[in-house]
Amino acid sequence: MSKDYYQILGIEKGANKDEVKKAFRKMASKYHPDKATGDEEKYKEVTEAYAVLGDDKKKAEYDTYGQSFNGAAGGGFGGFDFNGAQGFNGQGFEFDINDIFSNFGFGGGGQQTKRGRDVSIDINLSFEESIFGVERKLLITKNNSCKTCDGKGAKLGTNTKSCDVCGGQGKVREQRQSIMGAFTTVRECDACHGLGTVPEEKCSECSGNGVTRSEEEVVIKVPAGIQNGEVIRMTGRGEAIPHGQPGDMYIKVHVEHHANIKRDGTTLTANLSIKLTDALLGGTYNVETLDGKVDIKIPAGIAHGELLRIKGKGVPYNNSRGDFMVKISIETPKKLSRKAKKIIEELRDEGI
Ligand SMILES: [Zn+2]
Ligand SMILES: [Zn+2]
Repeated sequence: MSKDYYQILGIEKGANKDEVKKAFRKMASKYHPDKATGDEEKYKEVTEAYAVLGDDKKKAEYDTYGQSFNGAAGGGFGGFDFNGAQGFNGQGFEFDINDIFSNFGFGGGGQQTKRGRDVSIDINLSFEESIFGVERKLLITKNNSCKTCDGKGAKLGTNTKSCDVCGGQGKVREQRQSIMGAFTTVRECDACHGLGTVPEEKCSECSGNGVTRSEEEVVIKVPAGIQNGEVIRMTGRGEAIPHGQPGDMYIKVHVEHHANIKRDGTTLTANLSIKLTDALLGGTYNVETLDGKVDIKIPAGIAHGELLRIKGKGVPYNNSRGDFMVKISIETPKKLSRKAKKIIEELRDEGI
């Protein structure tokens, strides 16, 4: 769980550097394990608090994010949990500063695994493509795993050897002087990125990073029936980083409107204008669906706004298809010839 470092040092939140230092000195000397009043756990807490609040940059980070982590405990962030702390050794103390602050980065999982950035792109689809699905190929320039060395950073056919810089530990210890004496921090070795091994001979393509910036063809398989605004996630297709996990790629879909066809779930609907006489007497019309033209029978006496169903020409789903609905609109003639008028007047006399 997150800790309140100000509370641990017994000072007000936002106390200044001098106050922090003074409080630390007092607490540290009180709890130092060599003293009668010593308390190893408390001493560790106090030094941990000072490691953060006594450092301008880290204090600023803590002031900004630290308290909100309390509220978000149990969420994606690892918070200020000190599980990464190394054993107390009586002489000084050491812990892995990276263990605390790596949690501020992305990844969110609170794990140590480094993760490349996510990549977001937008694609436009025609209405038909959204209904039936489509395969899109895009050329995207980003950091990719080096193809020459398969991301390993070693020249092909060479082995890896123990890292000279960290002696194969993957971590580098740094001594710093503090009020309480030597203070050791441990950080990841830059030379081997924490692996403890380096290639005997570096891959010339990526200078041993295992990552190159290159243009890559990304094949996006857009599934049938995708809706406007939906996002396709391609795991691991974001930016690669040396010795870490690549980010993800997010593809946001924009679907163009169709001139005559609208979608509602798995149903497609199109308008069809018919003549007044066909509405009265019935007839056959040719309807443009996304599968091509289909003949449809208009029953005699159809009303304006009525819907006719063409089965199985709608949106694909679960190995099936929705329906295609035809919405009838009856064209009422604006002008009538003398003859037509006479006939219709006769119809009126018939009570129609
Ligand atoms: Zn390479
Ligand atoms: Zn190393």
